[in-house]
Amino acid sequence: MTLDRSRRARAARKRRKRFLAADNDLTAAQWTAIRSAWGCCAYCGGPDESLQKDCVLPLSRGGRYTIENVVPACRSCNASKSNDEVTGWLRRKRLDEPAFLRRWVDVLTTLRPSDGLDDERPDVPGEQERSERDAAVASLHDQHDERDHAAEQEGDQG
Ligand SMILES: [Zn+2]
Repeated sequence: MTLDRSRRARAARKRRKRFLAADNDLTAAQWTAIRSAWGCCAYCGGPDESLQKDCVLPLSRGGRYTIENVVPACRSCNASKSNDEVTGWLRRKRLDEPAFLRRWVDVLTTLRPSDGLDDERPDVPGEQERSERDAAVASLHDQHDERDHAAEQEGDQG
């Protein structure tokens, strides 16, 4: 029992350390910019009251608190999504997944040029970042499509 408890405590400390380290990447100014760009809960469009930082790719799946990965979420969405993979969760909640992905890319396009962190810009400003984002969104879609097929097959039997 004692051993088990200390192991759990160690895991909790580790999680907290990881959380704090990751949290440092997003500045208060960036969070304000993200929040005002969305103006509502990124997932359900809920009102701008007590919006919380939500990692689109959860920390447990390698996501970090960065301008690319954080969106504002209402308390209800934040609690519900938790560590779930975003596209599958949106689908289960019957939220508009394509609308979210489009809006997310739009918001990032709006935020990116003003953050002033990119000294090594490619010849076409924003072009490289955009293709990276497209790849990220495409990979989300890929994961999602695989799930879709599995769900459809299950559905056929039911
Ligand atoms: Zn919400």
